[in-house]
Amino acid sequence: MGGSAPASGPDFSSGIKLSDCPAEGTLAGRVGDTGVLLSRLGGEFYAISATCTHYGGALSEGHISERDVRCPLHHACFDLKTGAVLRAPALDPLDRWRVDIEGEQLFVREKLPSARAKALPESDVRRIVIIGGGAAGLACAVELRKIGYQGSIAMLTEDRDPPYDRPNLSKDYLAGTAQNEWMPLRSEDWYRENDIDLRLRTKVDVLDIEMREVRSNSGERVPFDRLLLAMGSEPRRLEQEGFSGPNVHTLRSFADARAIIEHAKPNSRAVILGSSFIGLEAAAALRQRKVDVTVISPEKAPFERVFGAELGRSLQRLHEDHGVRFHLGNVGAAFQNGEVVLAKGERVPADFVLVGVGVTPRTALAEAAGLTVDNGVWVNEQLETSCPSVFAAGDIAAYPDPLTQERVRIEHWTVAERQGQIAAANMLGAKQRFDSAPFFWTEQHGVTVRYIGHATRWDDIRSEGEIGIEQTLLRYYQEGEHLASATINRDKGNLEDELKLEARMRGH
Ligand SMILES: Cc1cc2nc3c(=O)[nH]c(=O)nc-3n(C[C@H](O)[C@H](O)[C@H](O)COP(=O)(O)OP(=O)(O)OC[C@H]3O[C@@H](n4cnc5c(N)ncnc54)[C@H](O)[C@@H]3O)c2cc1C
Repeated sequence: MGGSAPASGPDFSSGIKLSDCPAEGTLAGRVGDTGVLLSRLGGEFYAISATCTHYGGALSEGHISERDVRCPLHHACFDLKTGAVLRAPALDPLDRWRVDIEGEQLFVREKLPSARAKALPESDVRRIVIIGGGAAGLACAVELRKIGYQGSIAMLTEDRDPPYDRPNLSKDYLAGTAQNEWMPLRSEDWYRENDIDLRLRTKVDVLDIEMREVRSNSGERVPFDRLLLAMGSEPRRLEQEGFSGPNVHTLRSFADARAIIEHAKPNSRAVILGSSFIGLEAAAALRQRKVDVTVISPEKAPFERVFGAELGRSLQRLHEDHGVRFHLGNVGAAFQNGEVVLAKGERVPADFVLVGVGVTPRTALAEAAGLTVDNGVWVNEQLETSCPSVFAAGDIAAYPDPLTQERVRIEHWTVAERQGQIAAANMLGAKQRFDSAPFFWTEQHGVTVRYIGHATRWDDIRSEGEIGIEQTLLRYYQEGEHLASATINRDKGNLEDELKLEARMRGH
């Protein structure tokens, strides 16, 4: 699933000389077999785990500042003193240990309980309702309990499964290399222990702002003091003949992934429409199941609109080397008699079809309730919608980009979770700004591309070194402004660019 922290370096539990510790800063070592980061900050010592609680990334290989540490894999961020999670995609804190000084020696001793969150401002909020049990919804619920909110939390979700690791659906899970147990983001006990009223298969049909309640398809009425809208996106479907049958899939939910796996027998033939993330991650995963895969897409190169044509072509070659066939500059016109008919005439046999042609935000509920909606539910920088007390986060939220001041809507896991965390604090009056640079990753045939920032258009791409699947660092510019970077095996470079983009966002 990811890297794991190497437990190398000095064993702090056996003691190290104080003179071997940095005067200010961090030293990587271990306690027995467990990787530990030992920091001296303002003259005090702190010891926290060196393994990210998200996918086990080695934090010693990430970015360490005088305040926090960022994971090189997916940019989770932790407090260097307490191990507390500062930013998703990690939701759980790092372990921490007591540090003792004896004469000229330093020892890392027993584990300490997790640090307590900062006290909340006084608030009369007693009932919080979250619509959607995905990335933003769950992160919001976790954060609310973490920061000490003691009122009720109802999470209403149309999904039949409790919140799960959606990005994995098109990667290890679809490939058959992830175990089922990896998928839920929280155990069933967690919802009970944290008093989260999780209602599955519950679609909210009506948001009544005046009455401050939501109504579900089964007639339930749930009142709220604060509401989070986190309904995510809906995959686009194709209208053309044959694309609504049982052998035609989209991939959004756990149930969708299970349905695809039913068809994905060795030597079965899959046609994938779309050459962006869902399409090509699924192509790679299905090849691991020895499915014969053909990708059809109107683009000249996969990912052309996101990464540019050159990196796109490198990724195309990677797929071709793994047996994926492409029909680019073409679209599926129909699915008839077990064949996908292309607009330019050819026919490609298919036992099943996966349509990966983008998503639309699920905004109908918000629109019907009278909230401001235009390509997403409009929120301010604190993620509050046009209706006070109603917040929105994740794929549906259109927010002011602190870098460009344009209103943007981002479809990334980490953004959704971070917005869920910020919305939680702001529902209780924290008034925090959402100002992290969007980050996503994609993995295909063992190659991971990480992307920081947001560039829907650019007039210049600058490369540091060669472009290829072994190593890449591309920066995207518009009118001389650096907007985003894509990297392969340049994780530190990606983290450094995140810091630079965020410094600009914060006006530094
Ligand atoms: C297969 C796949 C792989 C992905 N891989 C990556 C990746 O590698 N990296 C990355 O950054 N991003 C990835 N993404 C995108 C990422 O998963 C989304 O951006 C993220 O899940 C958005 O979070 P969200 O909370 O807004 O919505 P979601 O996580 O989609 O959750 C929305 C929830 O709302 C529920 N819902 C919708 N309408 C209603 C209603 N009316 N009433 C009640 N419940 C409702 C849905 O059932 C769902 O549970 C991937 C997406 C998919 C589908």
